[in-house]
Amino acid sequence: MKTEIIEINSGNIDISKIRYASQVLKDGGLVAFPTETVYGLGANALNKEAVERIFIAKGRPSDNPLIVHVADKRSVEKLVSHIPNKASILMDKFWPGPLTLVMDKLPIIPEVITAGLDTVAIRVPSHPIALALIREAELPVAAPSANVSGKPSPTDSRHVINDLNGKVDVIIDGGFSDIGVESTVVDMVLDPPMLLRPGGITVEQLEDVLGQIQIDPTLVKKNLDDIIIPRSPGMKYKHYAPKADVIIVEGDPEKIAVRINEMVKEYEGKDIKVGILATDETVHLYPESLAVSLGSRLSPGTIAANLFKALRDFDKTDVQMIFAESVDSSGIGLAIMNRMKKAAGYNIIKI
Ligand code: AMP
Ligand code: MG
Repeated sequence: MKTEIIEINSGNIDISKIRYASQVLKDGGLVAFPTETVYGLGANALNKEAVERIFIAKGRPSDNPLIVHVADKRSVEKLVSHIPNKASILMDKFWPGPLTLVMDKLPIIPEVITAGLDTVAIRVPSHPIALALIREAELPVAAPSANVSGKPSPTDSRHVINDLNGKVDVIIDGGFSDIGVESTVVDMVLDPPMLLRPGGITVEQLEDVLGQIQIDPTLVKKNLDDIIIPRSPGMKYKHYAPKADVIIVEGDPEKIAVRINEMVKEYEGKDIKVGILATDETVHLYPESLAVSLGSRLSPGTIAANLFKALRDFDKTDVQMIFAESVDSSGIGLAIMNRMKKAAGYNIIKI
């Protein structure tokens, strides 16, 4: 299949290009597009065959449900049987934005989207290109992250081209995704609502509005073996994994550096090529040629924005083992550490 790559400037959107891409969606095609979290791979959510093509293009397991993207709160009414009051409050507060709400679905949503669940996950993205595309298509758009299943999510069109060129109809090149980690997923069928995936909207922000939320127990489990039947099926899959193995070192930043340097010596002694994911505060503590900084610990949003790109950049090198410093897990840090732990297959050293 020939993939068309269409460049669109998010600050000055060429509506004729949006119209073209939205027609591809209406015709049952696949369009990758930028969102504020990561790039999404979109299809008409009401067209079963189109949605099936997403799973094929990504190599995504069919029991991992998709998020449906809409242009506004009103569009949700046609997709769910009931909007809980707390969901309505969260929509008013955080949409458009990186928050996905799980609600009871109407039959119009094909089962292929929800992996047979009675619920559907919905969000309104804030990226101007994503919004323009969904508005113009006048459709709900099913869109998981636009990467080959298992790889780090794409935060730049080049990542999407690497993974999906020749497998999708259109890739919109619209620059970097600012947030860099996926949306927060909250199950609104339960009361108190339950966090299923940490993301761009933090637990602290949700609690400020709702008072109390529950955290899915699988999110606090340490080992993959402990995760048996998650409410959010995506949780059980290997995710965000670079080619190299990843080990997270958790503890006091200065001590982390000492421990990582010891391991660097040990692995290099065995002729294993190593890389280090560090922070601005610690990067100088490592051999310069090995370490990459994700940003300052004082600016966790920057660390989130750089994480997936850094993991993908290691794939272009011959590094076989990556040592990653853990960061504070408050705020957006919970999403950062959730993605890092999955990239590491829960391989964590505590010091
Ligand atoms: P991705 O599309 O790769 O960003 O992943 C979507 C995430 O949303 C996965 O973790 C899914 O398991 C989760 N999700 C989608 N639909 C539902 C649903 N109906 N109930 C629970 N989680 C869902
Ligand atoms: Mg994904």
